[in-house]
Amino acid sequence: MPRTTFAEENRSVTSTQFPKLKLEKDERARIVCVEKDPLFEYVHTLRAPKIVNGIAETELIERRDGTKFEAFKLDFIGRPLCLGDMGILQERGVDPKNCPVCEVAAQNDTVSAPERRFAMHIIKYATRPGSFDVALPFTPTLLLWAFTDTIYNKLIDFAKEWGNLQQHDLLLGPCTNPTYQKFDIGVAAKAEWLLDDQRKNLTAVTFKENKLNDAQLSEFIGRKVDTKWLRDDLDKIRQRWQMANGMAATPGGATAAQTSPQDPAAVAAEQAALTVGLDDLLSQQTGAAVPVTPPPAEAAVSMEDLLGETSRPEPVAEPVVVAAPQPTIEAPSNGSSVAATEVAAPPVAQPESDPLLAVTAVPEPVPAGPNPAPGSSGEVVSFDDLLGS
Ligand SMILES: [Zn+2]
Repeated sequence: MPRTTFAEENRSVTSTQFPKLKLEKDERARIVCVEKDPLFEYVHTLRAPKIVNGIAETELIERRDGTKFEAFKLDFIGRPLCLGDMGILQERGVDPKNCPVCEVAAQNDTVSAPERRFAMHIIKYATRPGSFDVALPFTPTLLLWAFTDTIYNKLIDFAKEWGNLQQHDLLLGPCTNPTYQKFDIGVAAKAEWLLDDQRKNLTAVTFKENKLNDAQLSEFIGRKVDTKWLRDDLDKIRQRWQMANGMAATPGGATAAQTSPQDPAAVAAEQAALTVGLDDLLSQQTGAAVPVTPPPAEAAVSMEDLLGETSRPEPVAEPVVVAAPQPTIEAPSNGSSVAATEVAAPPVAQPESDPLLAVTAVPEPVPAGPNPAPGSSGEVVSFDDLLGS
């Protein structure tokens, strides 16, 4: 029976308690990606027919073309991390040898192949109601933002067009559907947090003092589950589908007449299509009007230094292979992947810019002058110190 202490490091901090980016109906948000590289994991989203009193419930679903069909209501079972090997997943999209869920996904449509989900810290500015104008006093809040490939691809487009997204605010909304977090995303020419040193400092401290580590971020994306528990979930899903499909095949059942008289495989396939559509919807953003003007001259501030990421390798060295989104269910497990997409190279900070001068109590650093001695009145703060990386 272990004892603990009241030390800060023993505080329970889980990603589930961390505030998330979530827009209310008609709400707008002005945010900035303080992190340049989101964390990603492959996750399975597990769903199974909702069984009430031994009967699978159904509902009428509208397809995108407006036609309707009867489908089983689905319960959310869980969102476990895929246990597959990252290399195999990036190459093939599934790893049946290492992950029991992938194994089932390769056999039938009751579960789907893993999909990439991303999470990163973002700063949300307090804004005036109904606008993207920053409210005063300047108030940055650190939130977690989780998204799928749809938004990730959009951010790649933005980065291609605008360069480093740490230097361009994102304008979200107005939110048209809070349940599915549907909103447009646009890019601002500037980043409010970089407009003066006070804002830079406040934002950097807000990030540094509140950010989660990568393990906690990963937990936010999906649960890490032992194989044994995954198999339990898979058993549960298989049993529920057996009940649902058995009912569909028996016209005497209470709701059988309403249920699509397709064979079980077709029903599962239709249901899988529905699930895919749902995930799409959850991450779907309608076409945002992206202002296409040349990016302004990059500020002579090294973002890596500012956010304490000097030790990280430049992402340009390793092209990211984007797993193909799977819009149809015909081949959910073929693991096709599209051509490698290179993440736009971040602009190289001007060599003469001194990151140590980027955040300082002195409003106007003199670039030509000698560096002030440590502890002098113009106190120079290293961003590494500032962010404690
Ligand atoms: Zn898997």
